[in-house]
Amino acid sequence: MKRKITVIGSVNMDLVTLADRTPKAGETILGKAFHTIPGGKGANQAVAAARLGAEATFIGCVGDDDFGRLMTQRLQDEGINIDYVKPVTHVSTGIAAITISEGDNRIIVVPGANSHVTAEYVQKHEEVIAASDAIVLQLEIPVDGVKKAMELARKHRVKIILNPAPFQVLSKEMLLLADYLTPNEHEQAELLAAGNWTEAEREEILQKCIVTRGAAGASIYQNGEKLIPGYPVEAVDTTGAGDTFNGALAFSLSGNADLEEACRFANAAGALSVTKLGAQGGMPTSEEVAEFLQ
Ligand code: ATP
Repeated sequence: MKRKITVIGSVNMDLVTLADRTPKAGETILGKAFHTIPGGKGANQAVAAARLGAEATFIGCVGDDDFGRLMTQRLQDEGINIDYVKPVTHVSTGIAAITISEGDNRIIVVPGANSHVTAEYVQKHEEVIAASDAIVLQLEIPVDGVKKAMELARKHRVKIILNPAPFQVLSKEMLLLADYLTPNEHEQAELLAAGNWTEAEREEILQKCIVTRGAAGASIYQNGEKLIPGYPVEAVDTTGAGDTFNGALAFSLSGNADLEEACRFANAAGALSVTKLGAQGGMPTSEEVAEFLQ
């Protein structure tokens, strides 16, 4: 039986310009290169799960424009069910305009159609969520959409993985709806600092945390902190390592692996992902993970 994973989240096109320096106000300069790189944490995590062999479904919104059509096609080419990806008129597909010059990266993110993944939109897809083994969420869509998805998943006893990135303050009620929270080290620190937690609540949140620690691996907190070590590899591009980790964690937990086993699998997938260029470029298949772990 295929593992049914539904990702509710963002689609973004990264527009990356490389230049020798940043232009001054009002100045035009020649750049060195330009790349369009498909991303968005939601889309990346769906691709990670699909490549590993999940029956992946994506719930999200794109603009009724060329980027929207391109990104939807790419999701479909990865074998992801795109029936619930809605093209929204009069709004652009989400983009990140990134300028990289010596020692100075400048980024403008325009959420565009991602802002339309509201509670109302998510509610329309209750049946899809109910039929899933696990749902995966991040914070690049409106928080009310994320919360609605969590409430629906809870109602239907579907596993909930919330990757609280990019960080924003969430209510206790919302954090406690998640079965698993997957912040990186910085996000975990912010998460624990932001709430006015009682000791018991803090402990409850910690027990749900799987904290990714880059090359070091990931920590779980069942009887105190336990580090599940990462795998040493030659890192080429670490973009999207966290997204690969989340997709792989969802895939492994949906197959009823225990948490430690799932973290080892996700660490291996994350390690493989950093050995190639691009967020989605290095995301491995299950066969590649199995071979790597031999
Ligand atoms: P990003 O925002 O770049 O996607 P992140 O900060 O969310 O990353 P990380 O903690 O950097 O997430 O990485 C996620 C996981 O990927 C780690 O827990 C680890 O398993 C794996 N990983 C990341 N970097 C490396 C590396 N250099 N070598 C081996 N494994 C890595």
